[in-house]
Amino acid sequence: MTVSAPHLSVIVPCYNEQEVMPELYRRLSEVCAPYADKGYELLLVNDGSQDATWPMILDLNASDPRVQGICFSRNFGHGMALTAGLDACRGERVLIIDADLQDPPELLTAMMAEMDKGADVVYGKRIKREGESWMKRASAAFFYRLLNRLSAVKMPEDTGDFRLINRKVVEALRSMPETARYIRGMVTWIGFRQVPLPYERKERFAGSTHYTLEKMLTLALDALTGFSNRPLRLAFYLGFLMLGLSALLLIYVFASYLMHDTVEGWASLAVLIVGLQSVQWMLLGLLGEYTGRIYQETKHRPKYIVLGKTSEI
Ligand code: UDP
Ligand code: MG
Repeated sequence: MTVSAPHLSVIVPCYNEQEVMPELYRRLSEVCAPYADKGYELLLVNDGSQDATWPMILDLNASDPRVQGICFSRNFGHGMALTAGLDACRGERVLIIDADLQDPPELLTAMMAEMDKGADVVYGKRIKREGESWMKRASAAFFYRLLNRLSAVKMPEDTGDFRLINRKVVEALRSMPETARYIRGMVTWIGFRQVPLPYERKERFAGSTHYTLEKMLTLALDALTGFSNRPLRLAFYLGFLMLGLSALLLIYVFASYLMHDTVEGWASLAVLIVGLQSVQWMLLGLLGEYTGRIYQETKHRPKYIVLGKTSEI
């Protein structure tokens, strides 16, 4: 049992991952073995799983005190699970990795080597994505490129949350109070020395994705609104465009009036009203999105509620 702070913490968000837990534990223990002397901890955050994930974490903890667990009272989402892990971890260096073994834990060795050379963040950059649908790959590619165009901070493309970060970065993350936790964006925003590590993303070890379309949409909106104010400027641009168009229309109306060219007019009027109305609704929706977020943040709710913890943390 380690009393002083361990050298390495591994944070794993787990949501209904009972099929992968034994293999996850086996692979992680293997890659962490070289750091056993300096001490390491495996921090498994159970994000309100309905299956046997939490009892399995407790079993692992009973047989290996290096395994620590945090259990949420319900499903708070991947970002919150990571946040809880970051709040609790004690390691000098922290590895963030998914439970499903899509990101090979064996890369830890290479990541540690990069960090020895002075990197503050070593992030996995996917050069190949196995077992993911064409739709998922295309939408991910589109999304990351869009985000990069909009965001003031350049976000690395084809990158998930698979990262090794050091204590400086952990402390900086902890100092960010926002409740919309787009962790990979936040890490990029922090700065310091960030180094990519190319790797091939594998298929899930077992089970299927827990990222529903809704969760993915939330993630995308968190990222877009959390890291860019440019969508707000859309209102201005569109308003400007509409102004130009109505000026042209006015000239046309005036000219046809002078030429005594009688048009029925009601159709174009109706189209105009509907068109303007739809633009207005769209912009209202956009403003609503930001207002909703201000509301969300000003509530200052706790980001998550912990149901229980293992003894060590
Ligand atoms: N996860 C979580 N809470 C959720 C959804 C997912 O903690 O609400 C965890 C999940 O257990 C896994 C990681 O987040 O460790 C990534 O999820 P998943 O593999 O399902 O997403 P994908 O790789 O398909 O994007
Ligand atoms: Mg996955």
